[in-house]
Amino acid sequence: MFEAYPALRTSLGALEIRRALPRRERRLVGPWCFLDRYGPLSFSDGTPMDVAPHPHIGIQTVSWLLDGEVLHQDSLGFEATVRAGGVNVMTAGRGIAHAERTPDANRGRLDGVQLWVALPDADRNIAATFEHIAEVPRLELRGGAAQVFMGALGGVTSSAAQFSAIVGADIDARDAITLPLAREFEHALFVLAGEGEADGERLAADTLYYLAPGRDEVLLRGRVLLLGGLPFPEKVLMWWNFVARDPGEIARARADWEDGRFGAVTGYRGGRIAAPPLHAVAPPNPAS
Ligand code: MN
Repeated sequence: MFEAYPALRTSLGALEIRRALPRRERRLVGPWCFLDRYGPLSFSDGTPMDVAPHPHIGIQTVSWLLDGEVLHQDSLGFEATVRAGGVNVMTAGRGIAHAERTPDANRGRLDGVQLWVALPDADRNIAATFEHIAEVPRLELRGGAAQVFMGALGGVTSSAAQFSAIVGADIDARDAITLPLAREFEHALFVLAGEGEADGERLAADTLYYLAPGRDEVLLRGRVLLLGGLPFPEKVLMWWNFVARDPGEIARARADWEDGRFGAVTGYRGGRIAAPPLHAVAPPNPAS
């Protein structure tokens, strides 16, 4: 009934991830252009997430956790640990570098998603910034609730900067709930824990389900990630961690990173990630 896209298994350093966006057949859902799912996992030592400094342009990165901690550090000097219930949103605009890792003080668990939002052409060259929201707003519904970390849902709006009409929410429905949707949006569903259902259909794990525009609601049960937005009207070019419009911009951003023009993430101990060769045949694996 829904278009279903199984996630690809890949890795980010030591961390195993399931990549649900982009897929060849489904590159965007609204402005959402990247979805990595990792965990749940337990660990007794080390840092399962340790993504050394790397650059971004043209997107917002959105870090949402179900459990554990991720420490964000960037080239503007922002530093913030995100935990379940909060969100880290970095607006890369024309360029920023950041590192994300499990902090030394941690509870030994990690469970979350890393998301990117493509910025519209009118906004994608703005100055970079970063927001940490310790507790996102909740939409209470009969039988469950939604934590709204990006955009708006059912009249509840996240304070995170948004540049397109968008929604990003973590739904937790013990009983089936009727979730209001913006009719003009397209949406994606992705089960975050246990079993999920949409309109009475069982949702498989690690699978992105696509809902075309024209819906006023969906009947949901379980712990489910909801992403959505107006169909993005621009064609974007993704290469490594950059989202642009043409290959020249990608080449310039790559040279800027290699020549140190993104600035240093001074809070991070350790080296940085070198850009892959531009002539690589396959698109390089992003460092999210
Ligand atoms: Mn990143």
